Amino acid sequence: MKNIDIVTNIVVCNYNELNDDQKKLVDCAKEACSRAYAPYSHFNVGAAALLDNGEIISGSNQENAAYPSGTCAERTTLFYAGAQHPNNAVKRLAIAAYKGNDFTATPTAPCGACRQVILETEHRYNTPIEIILYGTEKTYIVTSIESLLPLCFGKTDLE
Ligand SMILES: [Zn+2]
Repeated sequence: MKNIDIVTNIVVCNYNELNDDQKKLVDCAKEACSRAYAPYSHFNVGAAALLDNGEIISGSNQENAAYPSGTCAERTTLFYAGAQHPNNAVKRLAIAAYKGNDFTATPTAPCGACRQVILETEHRYNTPIEIILYGTEKTYIVTSIESLLPLCFGKTDLE
């Protein structure tokens, strides 16, 4: 037997250290939180995706009384982007969450299902997606979802 050590590189910074393009996308994700439909969790999540044509698509969580019927902000955003702009790769994705009276202090990470969808989006366009997880006290940046989804299952497993 032997062990496999998996190393994940996450850049920790704060909003002011982001470049203007990154700030713009985070601002869009924060703004999208205000359009969340979250009467059950009261946890408003916003996501914003930058496409390779420069367009920004944003989305928010859309909950349902039958809980599994709802959808997270990340999937709302990526499915809309894929449906409306099937020929444009997603280059960057920002995620923010609002709870109580403020945005969360620590970054909100995508759930497992959303990580899988982000992975599919990377594979679909053969383009890594820079992911910015916003928090008021600290923000995380990873250069690909593979940093957050080691030992992933993707399309190559089916070939
Ligand atoms: Zn999710």
